[in-house]
Amino acid sequence: MTRTAVAPRFRGDRKIEFADRTYPDPGSGQLLLAPRANALCGTDRGFYDNGAEHVTGHETAGVVVAAGPDTTTPVGARGVVFLMDYCGDCRSCRLGATNQCSAKRADMGIADDGGFGPYELIHETIFFPVSDDVEFPLATMLLDVMGTTGHALGRAELVRPDIESIYVAGAGPIGIGLLVMAKIRYGTGFPVHISDVSPWRREYAESLGGIPVDPANLRSVGRPDVAFDSSGKEVARRGALDILGRRGVLVCVGHGESVTLNVSGDLIAPERAVLGSEYFRYDELSGNLAILRQHRDLIGKIITHEFPIAEIGRACELFFAGQTGKVVVTQEEHS
Ligand SMILES: [Zn+2]
Ligand SMILES: [Zn+2]
Repeated sequence: MTRTAVAPRFRGDRKIEFADRTYPDPGSGQLLLAPRANALCGTDRGFYDNGAEHVTGHETAGVVVAAGPDTTTPVGARGVVFLMDYCGDCRSCRLGATNQCSAKRADMGIADDGGFGPYELIHETIFFPVSDDVEFPLATMLLDVMGTTGHALGRAELVRPDIESIYVAGAGPIGIGLLVMAKIRYGTGFPVHISDVSPWRREYAESLGGIPVDPANLRSVGRPDVAFDSSGKEVARRGALDILGRRGVLVCVGHGESVTLNVSGDLIAPERAVLGSEYFRYDELSGNLAILRQHRDLIGKIITHEFPIAEIGRACELFFAGQTGKVVVTQEEHS
């Protein structure tokens, strides 16, 4: 039985149309999910401006409505979708580094149909079950907001086990996630300096316990042990390297521009490292679910707005205007 239902399609020039989309029954190893909440992401902006052939949305929580052969997940299970449809067999996957799979089958919502639609067809291996006490919008925080940032903190710890201070460039959703996850991980008194060109975002970060920094006055940060760039801007990465302490680590989380390194002064003499951090590993979800259940009020503050799917255009306009935390689009239960 195929299902036909209306899905929003990003047509470019900030136009979103609703059109019929057909969804097949799940095949072997597959689940058909009915998305119930999907957080907007900075990555969606490119689709909003330029259009997309697929149904977008990659921070998805929902309910399993049909399960294919060779699966064990029951219909009715609630959970979130790991964006990368990893193979499970390659060298990276065998190590658990599922975010570095060399034979990905799909990128859900990025290159293949994702969670803004009425259904989403996924492999069971990328479904992560979530307990009933976590509402669907809150469950989406397990993905980019907690997953990507928790992984980036772990990347820094690989090089730097004695972190005493952090500087975050950019107070968008990833920067805010880094702030909140660092506070949970290292304690409420742990100093997290966070900069943004937007005074609104600096104030928002301060309301969540960050030390706000005007990028024009980076010296006020001192010499942080670890810096994260969530902005993707060359000037922000360069600024972070200019203040980073000895043995410091710069972790680049935001895609975008480049940076020029002075290898002797930036790296060799102070023994610093520059690392990349991409999404997160599937096996990090269970630890993050435990954190979410323990800190649901704090993490819930990262969601500032919710809209029904019919108002996805309004949600995008508001989110991309830059004066929000996470904006989540919700869908009603349907048959
Ligand atoms: Zn995202
Ligand atoms: Zn793989």
